[in-house]
Amino acid sequence: MTGMTATVPLEAKSPFEMRVHLGDEVGETDVRTALKTGDMGFLHSFTTGSAVDGPGLRVVAWTTACMFRCQYCHNPDTWTLSNGIPVPLERAVGHLQLYANGLKRMNGGFTISGGEPLMQDRFAIRLLGAAHDMGIHTAIETNGFLGERLSDDELQAIDLVLLDMKAFTLEQHKKVTGGMDNAPVIAFARRLAALGRPMWLRYVLVPGLTDVVAEMEQLGAFAANLGNVERAEVLPFHQLGKYKWENLGLDYKLADTPMPSPEAVAAAVEVFAQQGLEAC
Ligand code: SF4
Repeated sequence: MTGMTATVPLEAKSPFEMRVHLGDEVGETDVRTALKTGDMGFLHSFTTGSAVDGPGLRVVAWTTACMFRCQYCHNPDTWTLSNGIPVPLERAVGHLQLYANGLKRMNGGFTISGGEPLMQDRFAIRLLGAAHDMGIHTAIETNGFLGERLSDDELQAIDLVLLDMKAFTLEQHKKVTGGMDNAPVIAFARRLAALGRPMWLRYVLVPGLTDVVAEMEQLGAFAANLGNVERAEVLPFHQLGKYKWENLGLDYKLADTPMPSPEAVAAAVEVFAQQGLEAC
């Protein structure tokens, strides 16, 4: 490690901290090598003490780079790989090691999220593998688009997949994500089911955008039929990431969108529950 990267703290108070270009610039060849080998990852941060990114208290690594452009994204500073801090795998593993005993004692775990962690699939799988070897529960939060990058064996080293499904129909998926196809996401969910890998479905509820009952019904029915979905989580939209859109000069279409009411959240949970899912 050179220059400022070595001294940049990996820890953020929360993923809602705006963090861009905190590390040294990495040349194109080194980026390519990093992506191919996973010897180095690009991270927004690590956070500790999360109770919402999988079971128990979690340490979370937030990676940079994402191929989606969700209208409701609360971390647009993670969209670009080069916004992240370049972190050698050993440094990331060493950081996680600090918490290993505590996480095991408290039945917590490690989650890799983003951004989209499978944009850096080799780094993600090696870090998850290291956590697994430490005896820590492992989870990946992903939009599923690049699920095929993980082999069946690699999926066995991940205890839980938090699959963020943005929509069920192609039209709505494109609307929410900036034009992205959802066939690979659906295929990944099916593959996880065929392999019997535990999955939680996550769905962000945005008034006027994703509060579409027919979408939730179809998604819920699909997930319930898979047989491996332990839980469906409805995540209420919020505006914690609004300032990031503004600071990055991005066109934020949801600037005036309110949070969903508790009643609307309860109604959405009920839609998923009615399909036979454990919903919350
Ligand atoms: S998939 Fe996640 S990180 Fe990527 S744009 Fe959507 S909400 Fe943001």
